[in-house]
Amino acid sequence: MNRRLSAAALLLAVLFSTFAVGCGPRNGSGDVTDAPGVLTLPPYEAPGESAPAPVQTLPEAEVRTEPTDGHNWELVSIPVKPGQKVPCAGSFRCTDCGQTEIRTITTADLGVPVIRIKGSLSGITKDNAGVVDFDYDGGSVAFSCQAKLTVQGATSSGFPKKNYTVRLMTEDGEKYKVSLSEKWGRHSKYCLKANYVDFSQARNIVSGRLYGLIAASGTVSDDLSRAPNYGAVDGFPVAVFVNGSFHGLYTVNIPKGSWMFGMNGGADTRQALLMAADWTDHVALLKTTSSFKHGWELEYCSTEDTDWIMPSFNEMINFVNNADGTRFRKLISRYVDVDRAIDALIFTTVFHGRDNVSKNILWATYDGKVWFPSVYDMDDSWGMVWNGQDYYAADDFPFSEVAGRNALWAKLWTNFRDEIKTRYRELRRGPLSINNVKEEFKAFTDSIPPCLYEADAARWPDIPSIKTSTYDQIVKYASARFKYLDKKIG
Ligand SMILES: [Zn+2]
Repeated sequence: MNRRLSAAALLLAVLFSTFAVGCGPRNGSGDVTDAPGVLTLPPYEAPGESAPAPVQTLPEAEVRTEPTDGHNWELVSIPVKPGQKVPCAGSFRCTDCGQTEIRTITTADLGVPVIRIKGSLSGITKDNAGVVDFDYDGGSVAFSCQAKLTVQGATSSGFPKKNYTVRLMTEDGEKYKVSLSEKWGRHSKYCLKANYVDFSQARNIVSGRLYGLIAASGTVSDDLSRAPNYGAVDGFPVAVFVNGSFHGLYTVNIPKGSWMFGMNGGADTRQALLMAADWTDHVALLKTTSSFKHGWELEYCSTEDTDWIMPSFNEMINFVNNADGTRFRKLISRYVDVDRAIDALIFTTVFHGRDNVSKNILWATYDGKVWFPSVYDMDDSWGMVWNGQDYYAADDFPFSEVAGRNALWAKLWTNFRDEIKTRYRELRRGPLSINNVKEEFKAFTDSIPPCLYEADAARWPDIPSIKTSTYDQIVKYASARFKYLDKKIG
């Protein structure tokens, strides 16, 4: 890993003289903080009333990343106005003496990785890539390189705060592979998610983690067990700065694609990944389709020839629509990984995935014959309406209604009801116990400092759920949802 501050970043820096004053009367005295739990501040002295502390002038163009010595600094806010004199600035306050200073934020200050982008984001779309300087500081992992950015997402590309697909590159334009999380391995392609509708930023990733725990507690093929999170998303929060200005709270996610499913191709493989990208009868598995249209998008195929994919998928659709009863129960596993399908059905119902019952499902195969669904795009889960402006009641959308939205769910609900109920009860004692759900959401939301949430709200004041999408809302909803479904399942 090479760690460098580029010359251009240095040019953004300015003098810190205003902020770099010493601690004044408190300098060197340790008497105040020695009394445990009692904090006595020295009397307030307005500037000029006493001998001013010596002003320390930093050399021109030096970026201060280290705090001024002798204080107990706490990050209190992240200024979001453009044109900050200090690049990637944070406002700090000494908890002992009240002294403030503004300096460049580090990963240690925030507790989450900091991404500094230099270049222009305007003009970047899904089809128009932009190349920027990309500086990543994740504590133990830090590097600078170039990155090719494109706007990611369908609905979300219309929101002001965009998602980006990030392709890390060397200066020669080669893939620059780094491992951003131990269990992910080295990759050059990542997704920078704005999570625009969900102010908590937690729904998509924590739901992905919960699905990973669900799968881990059940039956999983060897192929899928090699995926980073059992075919579901994984990620972590980051603070993004663009040209020295705060751009937002984001998450770095595994992009949807072969990596998410641990698909590595290789000789004689028939691996493929389909995305249900639109609301059609086809993605509801009611109709076959001959090619990648009618709502289907091909995300990955391990072979150059893709002609085998839809016929294979159609065989599954035909079986699901035409078989029933004993025949369905006996032969479905030739076409569908039933354990994964039941877990996906249960979890989608649990998180109230109205937007996920047919659209927003990833369909994968490792052998070109047996297909399985995986949950995807869970920003508007746990009651949130797709645009983040409202919440569904917790006591609607039971299994019977979910089953009506997708031919496979319907057949499973009819023919595997006992298995679904048994598995639901089992999951409620494990990954889907309310305590576990609370713990997972708590761990994620607690990892984001309040000032980072506040800065995101200030930078993007039109985020629809700023006041509503909180840890408390999510767990309150989850509790009510489980109460309702427990009763329905019996
Ligand atoms: Zn101090």
